[in-house]
Amino acid sequence: MIGRTLHSSGVGFTSQRVRDRLVERLREQGIRNPYVLQAIGSVPRHLFIDEVLASRAYEDSALPIGFGQTISQPWVVARMTELILEGDTVPKHVLEIGTGSGYQAAVLAALGMQVHTVERIGELLRTARKRFRAQGITLRSKHDDGHIGWAEEGPFDAIMVTAGAQAIVEGLIDQLAPGGTLVAPVGGGATQALVRIRKLADGSLDIKEMEPVMFVPLLPGVVDQ
Ligand code: SAH
Repeated sequence: MIGRTLHSSGVGFTSQRVRDRLVERLREQGIRNPYVLQAIGSVPRHLFIDEVLASRAYEDSALPIGFGQTISQPWVVARMTELILEGDTVPKHVLEIGTGSGYQAAVLAALGMQVHTVERIGELLRTARKRFRAQGITLRSKHDDGHIGWAEEGPFDAIMVTAGAQAIVEGLIDQLAPGGTLVAPVGGGATQALVRIRKLADGSLDIKEMEPVMFVPLLPGVVDQ
């Protein structure tokens, strides 16, 4: 009974109040887009990680999700999401490479985007799909090597790569619609630079380097496990 009282008064580590505090912290750290902040405030991050880590779900840090992979730090999720939004315009048709826990995809879906997400590790994708189903999140996903993108479903208004690579994958730029935005961590080492590429109406590219970030590497092939 006491536990229940504590929980409903918003002290529980999964409560809305804890999520609101995370939103406040992100705002202090420069995330300004109200739609992004609202989406972060609405998606229950604790449901995208193992229960034993749930008490840390609303810390602003990356956490392990198995197979040597991580759920991205909330600030990074917020920043990358902000970068594919052009002020008030929410891209419709979106591709994410690296489903991982499914959290970033859920944040994009919460913004009303039609999300397509690709993951190379079979077991991570199966777990993410269960989470999407349990939470009533509708999106499309496939088990594949994200280097090839998802041409049949393209072109996309936005593409978000959530694993680090030495260079931008050229084939993904081809799947970007004119006026579209691609965001990816670029750099082969432990840290990368967040890079935003805009494909202009005439097909030329506007490339801008943003903040330093830390992602697990974008790897070739698929893992069937
Ligand atoms: N967006 C995820 C972040 C996961 S970490 C989240 O919100 O939790 C990066 C993910 O990219 C890992 O799950 C990793 O397996 C996956 N990945 C790495 N290389 C890939 C590739 N070539 N194709 C698809 N997914 C890849």
